[in-house]
Amino acid sequence: ARADLAGRIRRAVTTVPGFPDPSTVFQDLRGVYATPGLLAEAAAAVAAEFAGDFDHVVAVEARGFPLGTAVALAARRPLVLARKAGRLPGPVASAGYDLEYRSDTVELQRDALPPGARALIVDDILATGGTFGAVAGLVAGQGAAVAGFAALLAIPGLAGAERLAPARVALVAGSG
Ligand code: AMP
Repeated sequence: ARADLAGRIRRAVTTVPGFPDPSTVFQDLRGVYATPGLLAEAAAAVAAEFAGDFDHVVAVEARGFPLGTAVALAARRPLVLARKAGRLPGPVASAGYDLEYRSDTVELQRDALPPGARALIVDDILATGGTFGAVAGLVAGQGAAVAGFAALLAIPGLAGAERLAPARVALVAGSG
């Protein structure tokens, strides 16, 4: 059922070469979200994979919100939003990270996770792992543990999972 799920997700993804810049092949997940039940199935697979090992879900703005919310609902765990700079009322902790042509900042409210919490960090796509790494730094900075990372798929050839090792990385549809 899991291999079948991976195939159904892959078939629902549309690739858009040259968006948003010439060197990027954008993975458009609209077809995943538009297929009734598919996101719920993906979330259930993530929740099952990390069952017993996490007690909070941290979803990364903005495209980590659909899967992160679905995982939190499936596992009946608290949902915490990691947001771009300036969106959360303080006090916040910030972490900068570099993307291909720019840098970005992600933030977490300082009391968002209780000490000792085990956070599963969720985004839509793993590319270089820079985003996940920055959020993991914020989680660790709060005295919480990173249970692992989950995304629908990874961009092949960027070694994102290797960069995050030895942390556990779950990719519901494997590498794009
Ligand atoms: P990274 O920090 O390099 O792992 O990039 C992951 C973040 O960038 C995720 O939030 C994705 O939504 C986005 N992203 C990176 N590459 C792509 C791509 N080829 N298509 C769609 N989104 C991408």
